[in-house]
Amino acid sequence: MSTYNPIMYIFTILMGLSIGSFINVLVWRLPRNESIIFPGSHCTVCNKGLNWYDNIPLISWIYLGRRCRYCNSKISIIYPITELICSITFLICLWAKPTNYIYINSSITIILGWILSSILLTITIIDIKYLWIPKSISYGGIIIGIINIFILSLIYNQYPSSEIIVNHILASLIGFIAFSSISFIGEIILRKPALGLGDAKLIALTGAWLGIKGVLIVMFLSFISAAIFSSLALLIGYIKRGDPFPFGPFISLSTFAVWLMGNTFWIKIYFY
Ligand SMILES: [Zn+2]
Repeated sequence: MSTYNPIMYIFTILMGLSIGSFINVLVWRLPRNESIIFPGSHCTVCNKGLNWYDNIPLISWIYLGRRCRYCNSKISIIYPITELICSITFLICLWAKPTNYIYINSSITIILGWILSSILLTITIIDIKYLWIPKSISYGGIIIGIINIFILSLIYNQYPSSEIIVNHILASLIGFIAFSSISFIGEIILRKPALGLGDAKLIALTGAWLGIKGVLIVMFLSFISAAIFSSLALLIGYIKRGDPFPFGPFISLSTFAVWLMGNTFWIKIYFY
């Protein structure tokens, strides 16, 4: 990132908090099959609609004393935490150097990073809570990723345009086929679902955004990080052997890591 003025940082933080607030709505409504637009924000216990001043990310949660103004029921700390994480993620995106996007104007890369990280954060939270990845989000993410590459290859002539489009579409397919094969074979060997089809759609999303090299690195990183996490979690008794645990967060985190640092960084770490 080059030099930005303080306004840029403030804008980024506020943007992250508001999108984080919207992610809270998605996390609540998507698994319940509710519309994400109507009705407006309401208390999930007493259903009373919220005034705008009770619906300000982070701030409202603090001045309302962590409780609903009307029914006094507790508001989970998960909501402000999600908003904070989203805000921090948006800030980190200011420094992202995704390999296949290096020719692009840095403001566009930042906005693309915000879109990608919002999608990944939503998937991560829903997968942790429900062991489920909503199709609507992964399909939407795949389509946005391919459209981005298509538009960018038309605008920036540094790209051999057909080559990069084919690369990203192939990457999406490679990811999907690799993970659905692992899921299929794993189910035969372990006699229970090992890797869900939701994970296959998520890695297809990764491919659409990061291209072939990127998706291969993410597959590798997600297996390594999940293996480290599950060994540690077993060791401290956080999970028991055979307990299902979500794989989406590891794919999401790895995708974000590769978006942030670029491909070469991760390849170097592995070979040196
Ligand atoms: Zn209430």
